[in-house]
Amino acid sequence: MKGIFILFSLVAAASSMENFGGQQVLRILPENEEQVTLVRDLENLEHLQLDFWQSPRAAGKPIDIRVPFPSLQAVKIYLESNNIPYSIMIKDLQNLLDEEQSSMKAARAMDNARSTNSFNYAIYHTFDEINSFIDTLVAENPNLVSKIVIGKSTEGRPLNVLKFSTGSNRPAFWIDTGIHSREWVTQASGVWFAKKIVQDYGTDPSLTATLNKLDIYLEIVTNPDGYVFSHTSNRMWRKTRSANPGSTCVGTDPNRNWDAGFGGPGSSSNPCTETYRGRAAHSEPEVKAIVDFVKSHRNIKGFVSIHSYSQMLLFPYGYTSALTPDHQELNNLARVAVNALTSLYGTVYEYGSIISTIYQASGGTIDWTYNQGIKYSYSFELRDTGRYGFALPASQIIPTAQETWLALTKLIEYTRDNPY
Ligand SMILES: [Zn+2]
Repeated sequence: MKGIFILFSLVAAASSMENFGGQQVLRILPENEEQVTLVRDLENLEHLQLDFWQSPRAAGKPIDIRVPFPSLQAVKIYLESNNIPYSIMIKDLQNLLDEEQSSMKAARAMDNARSTNSFNYAIYHTFDEINSFIDTLVAENPNLVSKIVIGKSTEGRPLNVLKFSTGSNRPAFWIDTGIHSREWVTQASGVWFAKKIVQDYGTDPSLTATLNKLDIYLEIVTNPDGYVFSHTSNRMWRKTRSANPGSTCVGTDPNRNWDAGFGGPGSSSNPCTETYRGRAAHSEPEVKAIVDFVKSHRNIKGFVSIHSYSQMLLFPYGYTSALTPDHQELNNLARVAVNALTSLYGTVYEYGSIISTIYQASGGTIDWTYNQGIKYSYSFELRDTGRYGFALPASQIIPTAQETWLALTKLIEYTRDNPY
């Protein structure tokens, strides 16, 4: 009976998933500013239901757009009639997602993780699986790791933060992953980081020295409602899941919701867009919880918020082209971190301020943390540069986490060794 019920639930879950059959991701390479503007105009045509994976930046910089099947012909004709070069980056998104699902299921059938040593770090996990990993890790390492619940999501899920600490009243370094829910390689990397910290403490001299001086906080599933939704309903869900009064569209972009240039360019007032800023700064409980935590802690010295994709290491500002007073130092440290990252597998990263490297974006996380006095505020965009985009194959999780950890280590060590 129970078996039949489980089978029934699986079928129900599978059929309620949004289907991306026939959808393509197009990579557009505008040759001049006029073409950039023409592509930007597509963003305003809501009926096309386009999903900009990589927004327009500048001539020569790729723009990636997920195009629903019914809009494909119209978009291609638009591009061709304007002589805008493009290629088909993903031919059928659903095929990629089907592969992702079957690898998850196959791995899960074998996965019987009662310990974090046998946990499978090379597959994508559900919210519940990550939570049980967190509890197991804490139970295995009670003197090093604890779990703090900093709040609740809109739908009532716990906002769990791991604290790695060997003493009290220490300055701290914060890392979050998954604030955009569909960026699955980030949450998966967060899980790997958690295990890595525990493994290295007491064996790796640098990490040991770090934890004897700093606490590390790690929020793995920063947007739990979105993450669950990306598993159960729509794999491409980015935003939170809060209701928007007066609109049928759901969710706010939690990386446009912070009180740093809130409401400015590079964020939208339209709840139906992927960059909707929300009705007010810190309206999202997932954001407010971190705001309250940072303010009450008062001694966070480094803050890293991790996204994907495009292979970049970014620092403030995003909302203004003004340079921060620490620009040179942040830029030098970014170079050191990126060089460390590249040393492992040769993965190439760009680095710089958000506005100069990607585009103007207002209300972002690290602009707010920087303005709160957290000098070492950075944001990553992990792999890849668009071959798979958000549908990065699980086989890339561990290499991505490993190389990113090398860069993170440089940021953490620098924070440890340069008190301010
Ligand atoms: Zn993101």
